[in-house]
Amino acid sequence: MSPATPLPTIAPAATTYAIALGSNRRGRHGAPAREIAAALEALGDVVIRSPTVASAPLGPSNRRYANAVALIETAEDPATLLVRLKSIERAFGRRSGRRWGSRVLDLDIVLWSGGAWSSPGLTVPHAAFRERGFVLAPLAGLVPTWRDPLTGRTIRQLAQSVDRKRPRD
Ligand code: ATP
Ligand code: CA
Ligand code: CA
Repeated sequence: MSPATPLPTIAPAATTYAIALGSNRRGRHGAPAREIAAALEALGDVVIRSPTVASAPLGPSNRRYANAVALIETAEDPATLLVRLKSIERAFGRRSGRRWGSRVLDLDIVLWSGGAWSSPGLTVPHAAFRERGFVLAPLAGLVPTWRDPLTGRTIRQLAQSVDRKRPRD
């Protein structure tokens, strides 16, 4: 008798995520924009990415900000992906501490092609992305016609309304 044939494993289908990357502190790769570039390498399976937008330091502070958005393809579900994102953040030297504090790397799940997801400690779409120009502007360059599953509005529409709300100076 021939040895038992292993059962075929059925690979879960890959889905697409929009990930927001942010950095406002130097790490071992260098300035924030370098940390973002290295984080994209660490993420893997990047389908397309926005340019990295870096802001000049404000006032006497030398804190620079860099932000980008990338689409990645993976078979991981959102909760599994978040665990991996957090481990990449730690590997980049992020220490848990104050929210909003300075950090080498922040990786947020903004959107998922699977729609909405909610589990302890994770809400997708990201709860605040509709108000954030630094996420919506680069995202609109990648997927302007994707729809927010909660509001039904396209990314282009969301980006335009944030733009209109921005105070002029
Ligand atoms: P914000 O979420 O407003 O951008 P932040 O990114 O600075 O703030 P963190 O300290 O990085 O906040 O994350 C706080 C927690 O938010 C994480 O531990 C994670 O469990 C939770 N979280 C909920 N939804 C998401 C999401 N879509 N992507 C990433 N983290 C999320
Ligand atoms: Ca964030
Ligand atoms: Ca985060």
